[in-house]
Amino acid sequence: MLQKSVKQYLEYLKLSGIQDIFFRPPKVKKIKKKPPPQIFDPAQKLKELEEKYRNCKKCPLWEGRNKFCYGNGNPQTKLMLIGEGPGVDEDRAGKVFVGKAGQLLTKMLHAIKLTRDEVYIANIVKCRPPENRNPLPEEKKMCLPYLEEQISIIKPQILLLLGRVAAATLLEMDIPLKAFREQTYSYKGIKTYVSYHPAALLRNIGWKKFAWIDLQKVQKDYQSL
Ligand code: SF4
Repeated sequence: MLQKSVKQYLEYLKLSGIQDIFFRPPKVKKIKKKPPPQIFDPAQKLKELEEKYRNCKKCPLWEGRNKFCYGNGNPQTKLMLIGEGPGVDEDRAGKVFVGKAGQLLTKMLHAIKLTRDEVYIANIVKCRPPENRNPLPEEKKMCLPYLEEQISIIKPQILLLLGRVAAATLLEMDIPLKAFREQTYSYKGIKTYVSYHPAALLRNIGWKKFAWIDLQKVQKDYQSL
C-alpha cells in the first residue's frame, strides 16, 4: 500500500517536471565504545613515583645524597617493613637495607621463611642523613608523604617497624623501644608490630633473642592471612 502511494507520488513529481530526487540517508547513531577498564598496577605506579621523586629537594638531606633510596621488594606483599633511613651502602646503591644491617635483615626474614622478594622494605626518609644521625623532625615531616603514599599503594596487611625512629614517627608516640614492643598497633587500620632495627642488633647481639620473639609473632600472623 505504501509502495503504491510512493510510486504514484513519484509519477506526479515526474509530470510536474521534477527529474531528480535526492534522499538524505538516515542518521546512524554512533555507539561509543567504552574504554577498557584500567588495571591498577602497583609496581608500575611505584616505579613512576620513584622517577618523579628521585631529584627531590624538599629537605636539606638532598645535599649529601648520592642516590635516592625509595624502597624495594614486592609491591603486592602482605608484609611491609619500615626502617629509618639509608646508610652509606644504601646511599651508594640507591637501594634500601643492602649493607651489613640489610644482610642481617635478610637472614632474619629467612628465619621466618620469607625472602626479600616476598616483602616490601622502605624507610622513613629516602636520603641518607649525614654521619648516619637520626633524621630531624623537619626532614621526617617533609619525607613522610612519600612513605604514606607507598603504604596506600601497597596496602600491606602487616607492618613491621624497625627501630624507635620508625615507630615514634608513624605511631606518634615518644616511648622507649622496649615499651613499643610490648603491644601491637593499628596504623591506618594495618596491624603494626615494632621490633629492633637490624643495625641495633649488630651493636647489641643480646637483643637478638627479643627480636626473634617479635619475628615469630609476625610470622604467625603472616601465615594466618
Ligand atoms: S629525605 Fe625525603 S624530603 Fe628530604 S630530600 Fe630526600 S626525598 Fe626529599
